[in-house]
Amino acid sequence: MEEEAAAVVPGELPENEKTAEGEKAKEKEEEEEVKVEEKSTDEGGEKAEKKEEKEKTADERGPEKVTTEETLEGKGSPKSPIVEKRQKDAKEQKDKEAAKKAPISSFFAPRKAAAKTEKPEKSDGEKKTSAVRKNSEEDRKEPKGDSTPGQTEFDPSRPNYHPVDHACWKHSQKVPYLAVARTFEKIEEDSDDLLCCVYLCLNQLGPAYLGMELGVGETVLMKAVAQATGRQLDKIKAEAQEKGDLGLVAESSRSNQRMMFQPASLTVGSVFKKLKEIASMSGNSAMNKKIDIIKGLFVACRFSEARYIVRSLAGKLRIGLAEQSVLSALSQAVCLTPPGQDFPPAVIDASKGMSAESRRAWIEEKSLILKQTYCEMPNYDIILPVLLKEGIDQLPNHCKLTPGVPLRPMLAHPTKGVGEVMKKFDEAAFTCEYKYDGERAQIHILESGEVRIFSRNQEDNTSKYPDIIARIPKVKKESVVSCVLDSEAVAWDHEKKQIQPFQVLTTRKRKDVDASEIKVQVCVYAFDLLYLNGESLVRQPLCRRRALLRESFMEVEGEFTFARSIDSDSTDAIAEFLEQSVRDSCEGLMVKTLEKDATYEIAKRSHNWLKLKKDYLDGVGDTVDLCVIGAYLGKGKRTGTYGGFLLACYDDENEEFQSVCKIGTGFKDEDLEQHHKFLKHILPKPRAYYRVDQSAEPDVWLDAVQVWEVKCADLSLSPVYKAAMGLVDPEKGISLRFPRFLRIRDDKKPEDATSGSQVDQSRSQSRQKVES
Ligand code: AMP
Repeated sequence: MEEEAAAVVPGELPENEKTAEGEKAKEKEEEEEVKVEEKSTDEGGEKAEKKEEKEKTADERGPEKVTTEETLEGKGSPKSPIVEKRQKDAKEQKDKEAAKKAPISSFFAPRKAAAKTEKPEKSDGEKKTSAVRKNSEEDRKEPKGDSTPGQTEFDPSRPNYHPVDHACWKHSQKVPYLAVARTFEKIEEDSDDLLCCVYLCLNQLGPAYLGMELGVGETVLMKAVAQATGRQLDKIKAEAQEKGDLGLVAESSRSNQRMMFQPASLTVGSVFKKLKEIASMSGNSAMNKKIDIIKGLFVACRFSEARYIVRSLAGKLRIGLAEQSVLSALSQAVCLTPPGQDFPPAVIDASKGMSAESRRAWIEEKSLILKQTYCEMPNYDIILPVLLKEGIDQLPNHCKLTPGVPLRPMLAHPTKGVGEVMKKFDEAAFTCEYKYDGERAQIHILESGEVRIFSRNQEDNTSKYPDIIARIPKVKKESVVSCVLDSEAVAWDHEKKQIQPFQVLTTRKRKDVDASEIKVQVCVYAFDLLYLNGESLVRQPLCRRRALLRESFMEVEGEFTFARSIDSDSTDAIAEFLEQSVRDSCEGLMVKTLEKDATYEIAKRSHNWLKLKKDYLDGVGDTVDLCVIGAYLGKGKRTGTYGGFLLACYDDENEEFQSVCKIGTGFKDEDLEQHHKFLKHILPKPRAYYRVDQSAEPDVWLDAVQVWEVKCADLSLSPVYKAAMGLVDPEKGISLRFPRFLRIRDDKKPEDATSGSQVDQSRSQSRQKVES
């Protein structure tokens, strides 16, 4: 996804093209590599398919008759396929109806050691005689006569789920991957269910800032599926196109597999290890080795496992689970079932006896500790062992902000005018800073002298800015040994000595920049200091942080400057400063509390920073960041591309994308071409977490992968659109009137889109403006 996003920056200039070309060349190389093996395996695949047809005919004659339905679905026992299917349907229906969710702690504790559920090891002789055989579900069932509920019946959403009694693995046994796959199924069905196999849930291989990537492209993945299932690549491709989800294709293809003997069941640990192995591979034959590992995983898959393994590999788990939920789930789990107890745990639900209200408050308070810690140290490898050993209260003492590890950046709330700012901050002292239109740069100076630069999304941008790194010794005072600076890197015209628009910055190469080849110069506008010489400053008020910033660094024109600011509470002075900021090519102002409630807040939504954009001055309306979830086919001049798009805001309470408008203006021809090329993941049906009214259904549903900044004239209540529904009206949502496309926000993830409640706020603000 990252790579694809990188390819769509508007107005790419030669430097960027170079990157894109480089990437294309790399992709081609990989393809070539695969082709060598592909030739033989594809042939093998075809042969296998033919051979299977022959076998099928033989099967039909024999007692183990397999219906087409089973073969397609990959389900059903050869002995009683219809009964099996009915049972499955009935179970699915039951699953859907199971309204009550399992407590989050369900995934921490395994089932009590009870009856043995493992398939008995076969003797060598048995293995040999089983020879090549069809991999039906029957092969993968647990032994009969097992009196305890096994993996087949494992249902993480059953009412009153007991984390010990209802788990499908035993104490000290490895967690079966099926437990995760089943839970993913539930999460996908019921968008608010939770689970805690953190990295797999988040589809990450490690902390985001380390940027570990699987490096498995879609084509390669399809080839692996084809090879593992013995199906032809063309068929896999066509089916994936039709279903819009290679995971589903892989899941339904498994029945074609043949193997010598039953592979061991997948465990969470084994799957994760394989994924990491894939990510660590590089060099000439890496792609073939990756395919081999993927094939190895596929043959061991049962039930829905293949679906989620493929989705994990494709980097599109898309189960509607945001990181905040994972953090809430973790904290709730350790609160309710404190870790470190003997087994079986005496306390399963520590909230027993509390009122619902105090239970919620208690869990929320603890959850904030974890969230704050995670913001300062976004690394589960470090946090989880401490959480389990020391408990949630101890986290802040062990997991601290550390130079070299990017922290979550503090964000601002939108406002629509000086009047509102004055009202919000009331008596509090505040400062107004220019809101520069560039790219956030979190600059870390490590004790070793090393400098690292991270983006708003904690991506490592160090190799993008060798020019900034080179100037650090010049601007930093000697007293600074280590620190973390918050700043904005803005394109700068050295000759005219002025700021250049954001679009110019996007033309800069993104990685491995050679300082001597830089065409777009940047100036760093520093606005905060979060860490200095071994001490975290995030709990200090801004006035203190700012004083330390100014004491610790020196300004150099066009290279490193403190964000321009005024500390005034005069409405006129602020209005004048706002206009000045726009004349100086800024977006408007950032207004920040200085003393009271002026800590660097990252874990909770804070109103300590307000943004005041120039759109207020334009009097034209608001800008919002929305996610594309559907498209309408173009007509006339736009035939062959999309003519319009369905946009949604992201509601983080319900973790869903809520439709907010249809957009068809503001696009240049190149934009439309680019969008058509980029937004190619067409879905057969809307995601479970899309809220859209039937009457606004687009021609094609798209995966929520890109955020656009959109300007509108007004916001109004609508029976058709779903944004903020429930907040303003039980039946109606909010829609944007006369929306116009401004630009792609590839610094924002889909979940960073404007939220339903922000859309609601914008609407009330625009109404107030009209009324005044
Ligand atoms: P927005 O992306 O519109 O939500 O605005 C927040 C962004 O403005 C931050 O992530 C920064 O990258 C940028 N920004 C520019 N100037 C400042 C400033 N003085 N203080 C904080 N953020 C700033």
